[in-house]
Amino acid sequence: MPRPIRASFRLSALRHNLEVVRRHAPNSRVWAVVKANAYGHGLLRAAQGLNNADGYALLDLNDAVRLREAGIAKPILLLEGIFQPSDLEPVDRYRFTLALHDLEQVLMLERAQLLAPVAVCLKVNSGMNRLGFAGTQVRQAYARLQASGKVGSIGFMTHFADADGAAGVAAQMARFAEWTAGLPGDATLANSAAILRYPETHAAWVRPGIMLYGCSPFADLSAAALDLRPVMTLASEIISVQQLQPGDRVGYGGTFEARRPMRIGVVACGYADGYPRHAPGLDEQSTPVLVAGEPTRTVGRVSMDMLCVDLSHIAQARVGSPVTLWGEGLSADVVAASAGTVSYELLCALAARVPQVGID
Ligand SMILES: *Cc1c(COP(=O)(O)O)cnc(C)c1O
Repeated sequence: MPRPIRASFRLSALRHNLEVVRRHAPNSRVWAVVKANAYGHGLLRAAQGLNNADGYALLDLNDAVRLREAGIAKPILLLEGIFQPSDLEPVDRYRFTLALHDLEQVLMLERAQLLAPVAVCLKVNSGMNRLGFAGTQVRQAYARLQASGKVGSIGFMTHFADADGAAGVAAQMARFAEWTAGLPGDATLANSAAILRYPETHAAWVRPGIMLYGCSPFADLSAAALDLRPVMTLASEIISVQQLQPGDRVGYGGTFEARRPMRIGVVACGYADGYPRHAPGLDEQSTPVLVAGEPTRTVGRVSMDMLCVDLSHIAQARVGSPVTLWGEGLSADVVAASAGTVSYELLCALAARVPQVGID
């Protein structure tokens, strides 16, 4: 028998969350963002669950090829475009749409021998200062692309640095509008946070990621309040039970000390499964867990293959009791916040060794 840990993926939740996107942005087409193995959900599984999307967006050329070879004919957007000239051969053959963020990429396109012009999306650096053209560079790149004879449609894209935070989108929207004024082309601006909070960003296409997977992009607003349903559930079981006396310590470093008699359970899940090692397990601050459907908390440090939980108030808990680390009944957002990170990181970090099952 394998260890009892497993990740299950509810495809109906993907479909539901995509409907939530459509409800917020009814006039936009949807690039479903499936980068990073669909935020840990499995690229082909997620693409299947999201087959009502209008296209898929990701980074990795090999993953894009996998989507095409799985029979997906919809537009596929490479969010970071090409990295070297030889990348243009599969781009051309499989008809991928290219985001272009640097003149080096424009140069590669100008020099390419293509079967047919490719669709491109010019990335505008409106304030994130990571990728993209700014100011007059936008027009210059646009003109060069038009003159190259290598591109079909030219669209525009930008990415918001703080759509989930206090700065919002206004300054970036203003720069984007100024720098692209009068240039024809479909725009795609909005990530999940902008889709939910700023209708003025919706444009021709939106680019949801995290909300499709049922987590909230906002620190102060739960996924449930946004009507989002978790897709991934990471579950395991209790594999041992210990009785502690006051003064007994738990785990590496003995960081947790029992102050009263306690019953604790050992769960077959550790940081080598993708559970965050920094999730605190102290009396003052601990991380929520469900055991047999009952809320409890971690105790002690997370180790590679195991973590410990408090069973003192869950009389029916014993070896074999089911444990939910995150997912249905316990949002990954809450676990992530406890560990000082965001759900994106937990979902993406699900380890390859964890057995996976898709469920309808
Ligand atoms: C990851 C990503 C998205 C999706 O962001 P979420 O916050 O997950 O909705 C959209 N656009 C780009 C360029 C991205 O890299």
